[in-house]
This record gives sequence, C-alpha cells and structure tokens, in this order.
Amino acid sequence: MSKLRVVIIGAGVAGCQAAVTLRKISQDLEVVLIDSKREKGYSQFDLPYILEGEMDIKEIWPFNKDMLTSQGVIVKAGEKAISIDTKKKIVKTIMDGKEQEYNYDYLILTTGASPRRIEIKGVESYDTIKNPGDIERIERNIANKNKIAIIGGGFIGLEVAAALKRIGKEVVIIEAMPHLLPGILDEDMARIVEQYLKSLGIDIYYGKIREVSEGKIILENEISIPGVEHFIVSIGDIPNIELARSAGIKTRTGIIVDKYMKTSNKYVYAAGDCVEVLDHITKKPRRSVLANNAVREAIVAAYNIANKLGLAERREFKGIIGMGISRVGDLFIASAGISEEIAEKMNLDALAQKISTTIAPREYKNGIDTIHVKLIVDKKKRIIGGQVIGKGGVLTRINMIGMAIRNDLSLSDLVMLETAYNPVCTTTIDPIVKAAMVLERRLKNA
Ligand SMILES: Cc1cc2nc3c(=O)[nH]c(=O)nc-3n(C[C@H](O)[C@H](O)[C@H](O)COP(=O)(O)OP(=O)(O)OC[C@H]3O[C@@H](n4cnc5c(N)ncnc54)[C@H](O)[C@@H]3O)c2cc1C
Repeated sequence: MSKLRVVIIGAGVAGCQAAVTLRKISQDLEVVLIDSKREKGYSQFDLPYILEGEMDIKEIWPFNKDMLTSQGVIVKAGEKAISIDTKKKIVKTIMDGKEQEYNYDYLILTTGASPRRIEIKGVESYDTIKNPGDIERIERNIANKNKIAIIGGGFIGLEVAAALKRIGKEVVIIEAMPHLLPGILDEDMARIVEQYLKSLGIDIYYGKIREVSEGKIILENEISIPGVEHFIVSIGDIPNIELARSAGIKTRTGIIVDKYMKTSNKYVYAAGDCVEVLDHITKKPRRSVLANNAVREAIVAAYNIANKLGLAERREFKGIIGMGISRVGDLFIASAGISEEIAEKMNLDALAQKISTTIAPREYKNGIDTIHVKLIVDKKKRIIGGQVIGKGGVLTRINMIGMAIRNDLSLSDLVMLETAYNPVCTTTIDPIVKAAMVLERRLKNA
C-alpha cells in the first residue's frame, strides 16, 4: 500500500515547522516540501543583525535542507507551485521550464508574504529586505555610498537603520505616519525610541515622499532631505495568496482558515503569513505576520491533518494577541495586544498608564537603566495591551502582559500578581505591577 502523502507549498518557518511536526508524529507519512527558492533554507529574523556584522550569513539557517532531509522530509527546492487542482488533488510545479505533478492526500499552504513595494517618483530602484540574497545585494549596493534612506519606521526599518549606523553609514528614516512604529507603539512610547535613534545620530522625518529630484527627497509637507544616495523600503508586506485564490480556496486579507487551520477546502490547510486568523481581543480576523504565530499555526495544521488520518489528537488555534519584540541598536522595544491609539479608533473607551522606572538598582550601575511600561485596559478594566521599552528585562515584562491578555486578567489581578524578587535583577514590586497600581490609584481618585 502506498504511503499517505502531505504536500506543503512554501518552506519558510511555517512550512518547515509543519513538515517536521508531521514527520515527528508519524514516520509513515510521506511529506513533500516544495519551495520556489533554491536556497537551502533561511530565516529572516537575523538579517538586520547580519547587516551590522553581528552574525555571519552562514549561521542563520535553522531550517536547512540537510536537516529536513535527515528527518525524512522530501524537499523540492527551486520548484514553483503554479496550480492546484483541488478536485483531482494535484499540485503542478515548474522548474527551469519543466513541469511536474504531485498528488496529495492533504495539502498545506505556507506561501508566506512578499515585501510591499511602492513607486517613488525619481527613484529607479531600491532594496527591500526579506531573503539572505537581499542582504548580499544591499551590501553590494551600499558599498560605495554614504547616506542611506530607510522608508518605513516599523520594526524591520528601525533594525536596519540602527545596523547601517553601526557600520558607519549616515542614515535617515522617513515615516509616513506622525510617529515611529505606528500600530505597534503609541506616540508617547514612540517618542522614546525616536530620542534614542536621534542620540545615535539617525535623522527622522515624518511625511509621505512626493518625489526625489537631483538627489533631494521632497516630502508632501515640503520638507526636503538632500544627499541621499540609496533607498531601502520596508513598509510591510502582501500575502502570497494568488495560488490559493486561483484554486478556488476562499481568501480575504489572507487565506481564510478555521480554528483547525483548515481552509474552505477540507483537504487543504494553511498557516503563516499567508493566512488570516482571529484576533483574541477584537475577535475579528487579521493577519499576524509574525514568526511566533506562523510556527504555532503550522503545528496546529499538522496535528489536525494527522488527526484526520487517525494519528494524533485534534488541536485548536486560539487566536492571536500580537506579541512583538525587536532590538534596535541596544534598545529592546516590545508590544502586546492593541495600542491606546487603536483602542480609541475602535471606541473601546480604553484607559492607559505609562510609567518609567528602574528595574534593578544594582544592575543599573552595570548599564541597565530605565524601563518604560505602558498598560492599556478596556472599560471593564480588562488588560488589552501593553508596551515595554528598555535595555534589559523587556522580554519578561511583555510576556507577562501577553499572559494577562490571553487569560483575560483584570487590572486588579495584575496589582495582586506575585512576582519573583531578588535585588540583583528586579524590584520587590515589578514594573508591570507598579504600572497597574498607578493606574488603579488614578481610577480610584478620578
Ligand atoms: C527582516 C525580517 C525580520 C523579521 N523579524 C521577526 C522577528 O524578530 N520576530 C518575528 O516573530 N517575526 C519576524 N519577522 C516576520 C517573520 O519572518 C514572518 O512572519 C515569518 O517568517 C513568516 O513565515 P512563513 O513561513 O509564513 O512565510 P515566508 O517566510 O514568507 O515563507 C514562504 C515561503 O513560500 C515560498 N513560496 C511562496 N509561493 C510559492 C509557490 N507558488 N511555490 C513554491 N514556493 C512558494 C517562498 O519562496 C517562501 O520561501 C521578520 C521578517 C523580516 C522580513
């Protein structure tokens, strides 16, 4: 009897995670992983840090072809999936003009996303950042150039800006919105990041680009920035959903999936940047575009396919909170849930509290300084968001806020939260608890 076959299209973190999970569940399953890229594998997260010379490009491939093959995954690198026949359950691919067909029992779509591009009047070409090849190209393109403009003040744009500054370039950031990290931080927190970047010598401008003429960038608000020699654009991405759509699989902002990561076709599952999933707070579907969720979705898809084949228990994907952390220079910036600005737009009658405090009086002498914490609660005083900035202790605090959001904790739950204490690493009242206490007191006195 021939083996049951699961075909996966896309070998990013989601596809690789799904493949490895399926093989761990059962060695009897045939798992075929198809990717149009010829690279052995890759991870995007390290790319800005490679640019600044902190890592070598060879170090970054946690999911590589050899590792996958050693786990029994059949890897088809360099083959682009061009169509899916969901009735016959066949995927057609092409490589060097040669077409190939793969039949499947179940299919997983992990086709990810591609960088969003814009037209900039007066600029013939610019770089984006997604693959290791992009880093090599950027390094070539900027080798003899000094002043580089980063278009887009999101996490990736800021990481790249700090990296380029570190290797001695003059850097300007241009953000179309009125503050950096829109949608991630509120303005009061974003100003802290702005000040830090300015202290590194990075210039920041706000406004949309009207045109570039004779080496001068002119913004719609008439600000002009002279001397820019190269552009790197980082303004988000667009999901790769055309293949799914043309196969009749339902899509909206991403491929539509249920809580089992199943698409509108019962033999096709999907995970990662190409899908939209439920937001835990708003209960509305949206794309996550973060690796932490891509791998969790992939595991759920793999388990539920295995469940259909009688090999594993069923698993549910419980929605996303939106937990992001970035290191820009030596500053950590993190957010969870929704910001005060977004809550305002959604008319949630949210309340917010920002505090700045020190986390470790002793370590302070060794360089850890202020930690900035912002908590956001809805009108029922349920925790719905948080933002943390500092040079240490940021990850722990954002994960605490994430746990609070996931478990629908209230402000008073946080006020009474038991946290570990030792003078070397923290204070008796943790900064998160302190922020909750300040907000609670403010509300009582209002
Ligand atoms: C520079 C950078 C830094 C980042 N840093 C972080 C971070 O610190 N933390 C975090 O959580 N997230 C981070 N992200 C986001 C994170 O990388 C993505 O959310 C995650 O990689 C998505 O994985 P994916 O497998 O869904 O998609 P992708 O990584 O986009 O992979 C999709 C794959 O599908 C293949 N493919 C598409 N269409 C076809 C087709 N028709 N046929 C065959 N193959 C196809 C593509 O070649 C690609 O290899 C970062 C992203 C970038 C660009």
